[in-house]
Amino acid sequence: MGRLQLNDLTKVFESDGSDIVAVNELNLDIEDGEFLVLVGPSGCGKSTTLRCIAGLEQASSGRILLDDRDITYEKPKDREMAMVFQNYALYPHMSVRKNIGYGLKITTDLSKDEIDERVEETAELLEIRELLEKEPGDLSGGQQQRVALGRAIIREPEVFLMDEPLSNLDAKLRTTMRTEIQQLQQDMDITTIYVTHDQTEAMTMGDRIAILDQGKLQQIGEPLECYHRPKNRFVAGFIGSPSMNFLSVEQNGRVLDHDEFSYRISEETQSALAESSQNLTLGIRPEHIRLVSSDTQNAVRTTVEVVEPMGEVTYAYFDIGEQTYTASIEGERRISADEEVHVVFPEEKIHIFDGRSGEAIKNSELGDETDTTAVQA
Ligand code: ATP
Repeated sequence: MGRLQLNDLTKVFESDGSDIVAVNELNLDIEDGEFLVLVGPSGCGKSTTLRCIAGLEQASSGRILLDDRDITYEKPKDREMAMVFQNYALYPHMSVRKNIGYGLKITTDLSKDEIDERVEETAELLEIRELLEKEPGDLSGGQQQRVALGRAIIREPEVFLMDEPLSNLDAKLRTTMRTEIQQLQQDMDITTIYVTHDQTEAMTMGDRIAILDQGKLQQIGEPLECYHRPKNRFVAGFIGSPSMNFLSVEQNGRVLDHDEFSYRISEETQSALAESSQNLTLGIRPEHIRLVSSDTQNAVRTTVEVVEPMGEVTYAYFDIGEQTYTASIEGERRISADEEVHVVFPEEKIHIFDGRSGEAIKNSELGDETDTTAVQA
């Protein structure tokens, strides 16, 4: 079993006489066998959270429970967890066989033959049997990362902790390893906490993702739920690539006024905004912006500044006022720089955030085809 709970976990570092709150009253409840991704920008407290769970840092306050057992002050070796780091941390002068078996040698009283058997099984699982007698220096980055995974797997931990394990690999290998880790985790059914700053990794790998900013939990949920129903502007801007576009607007009755255009809203949207202040942020994802004819309601006239054809889609960058925005247009539609176009932000696809707190007031509507539970299943 490997249910892991963080209750008000807080970690404060002292640096040059001042306090740095790296993790701020973090609450997480991770189910046995779940794959949870901790994601957020550099410095948001992901690694510190993981290191507190592993016991490599001591929590300043709060509790860490593993299957209801309080492990907050337990030594790392008693926590039944295995950690995989970004830099592999392999022993350079030991063979792959010894690297994988070393943890068992020092923490168990298994015989040499028993350890050897477990090493062979693990190497088989990771398809690295032919590498067993080599040293880490003779291996590629991807192979080294497999060995690092092997060293974690062989211990049969209750929880896997992975800190940016793929960031040293090139883009193609990263994609392959991503799938392999997911497959392995599903087969082994071991609770996994995976830290990354890469939102694509988070979206594609996690059963759920927890988004952190400045040590605080911003949202936890299934990837598509966070994508379609962000709780605040931070999550909306962080999840999704290219990022959501944001425009400052003021509400005046049935109209959202921007410096450069007016946007008419339905009664329904107006009533959703009834309790909020006038100071609002309109959010629209690039793929929801439509190119339309000039007589379309709420159409905004603009000029395409730059185009980036990606094949399946083309990213078109255009200005409204001083700001540049991104639209993702289907790849077959020819569009060129300097072209004058009209764009519209379809009302059912807009998000509206409180301009001050950043809290979401209205999220985009989901059609049946984007039902998050259906897609997740
Ligand atoms: P990255 O992706 O860059 O590793 P992160 O989200 O993992 O970032 P942490 O490494 O957990 O962030 O750091 C969170 C905050 O705590 C940062 O402001 C960092 O400077 C600070 N911090 C981390 N470790 C220490 C330490 N040992 N002493 C002082 N401050 C620290």
